Amino acid sequence: MLTAEQTSELKAALQAELVRLGDHAKVGLEFTMDRDRDKFGRDSMDESAEEEAYSTQLRLHDRDSFLLNKVQKAMTRLEAGEIDECEDCSDPIGFKRLLARPVTTLCFECKNAQEQVEADHAVASE
Ligand SMILES: [Zn+2]
Repeated sequence: MLTAEQTSELKAALQAELVRLGDHAKVGLEFTMDRDRDKFGRDSMDESAEEEAYSTQLRLHDRDSFLLNKVQKAMTRLEAGEIDECEDCSDPIGFKRLLARPVTTLCFECKNAQEQVEADHAVASE
């Protein structure tokens, strides 16, 4: 069980992550628009440029909503007092590990086992 201090420290970390994700989406959008303007000029954005900009935004959106989802889930677990409980084996997750990676839902051993599986599928984002 986490202390009240540890809980609020984790909450601050999760809130910072939410802010970061919000900012990131905005920065990504501005980058896309600037780049297209430089490349094609203000009035000549052709169809392929529009498609490219759209797919860039789509990728950013997918990635951000994936992360956002994890952060929001962690916030729910925190409020329910379950954030330090491993989803697999119900062992407590260390506070240091949680602080370094607040979105984690697995203890060190279970995460290692999962990463082994994910490496096989070339999925390595958390
Ligand atoms: Zn576990």
